[in-house]
Amino acid sequence: MSYLDYAYFDGKVVPFQDAKVSVATHALQYGTGVFGGIRGYLNHDGSSINIFRLPEHCERVIQSAGLVKIKLPFDAKGLATIFVDLTKRNAPKGNVYFRPFAYKAGLDLTPKLTKVDDGFTLYMMALEDYYSAEKGLSAMVSAWRRVNDNMIPARGKVSGAYINSSLAKDDAIAYGFDEAIMLNEQGKVGEGSAANLMMVRKGVLITPPITADILEGITRRTVFQLATDLGIPTEQRMIDRTELYIADELFFCGTGAQVTPIASVDKRMVGDGKPGRVTQAIAERFYDIVKGKVADYSDWLTKVPVAVNAAD
Ligand code: PMP
Repeated sequence: MSYLDYAYFDGKVVPFQDAKVSVATHALQYGTGVFGGIRGYLNHDGSSINIFRLPEHCERVIQSAGLVKIKLPFDAKGLATIFVDLTKRNAPKGNVYFRPFAYKAGLDLTPKLTKVDDGFTLYMMALEDYYSAEKGLSAMVSAWRRVNDNMIPARGKVSGAYINSSLAKDDAIAYGFDEAIMLNEQGKVGEGSAANLMMVRKGVLITPPITADILEGITRRTVFQLATDLGIPTEQRMIDRTELYIADELFFCGTGAQVTPIASVDKRMVGDGKPGRVTQAIAERFYDIVKGKVADYSDWLTKVPVAVNAAD
């Protein structure tokens, strides 16, 4: 990974290598942290870094923090300002990924939440594609069930919950697949290890509802908006496992995943195994928007000016 020079840590900007915590940190021991994942895309003419849906991401970080009683000394607007300032300071010359992390920073021994000190950091790295999937991913339905909301808040990005993702993703790779699809405790389709799942059947774009123990993905919301704008009918409902085997199209969506077609599930080909019409239409629109090529969606981008062709 290529981390950018500066991070925000404990209320100030510091060199990335100085953003450090104790081994006794509560969040490190118990997973009592929440994080975000946000992309900044280089505008098509190189003039700005376009931070994608920054206000929505900031709001989710604050909400996720609240779920585990982490109080931050700023609101969503204040958090957005920290992103913009750090971007200016790092002056990236290509696509980036931001990782905000709000966490229980105290060195307390007890796995409680109240009266444990909170901390916050934000750092950045260069990131192009998360998946290498020109032809579409091979996915498997995991034996690991997606964490239930009554166990660990499923709709927030809680660090400890990512053990669930890690187990599923690791199995998928060990069995020779690219990615896992996790079912929820009801046995209905949940999502991938770090991405929401979309299915197309008979021209309708379908995804599980936000009450299906999934992360309330911002790209998920984006994809539904794009589909509506493109005249593609949408539906939120529970999805059965065997629908994955007869779907016309399947794709993952997420900040990392962006829009990534799924070519097969459990070795069964999805459609004709190639990215489908709806997937392609949405992907094309998405990548144009993030690069600032579509004026209509400019309110989804927080543009931070960077020098064009800046010398190294
Ligand atoms: N589900 C999980 C478990 C994730 O980690 C992510 C990545 N943040 C997503 C879905 C996609 O969410 P978003 O579109 O907000 O990045």
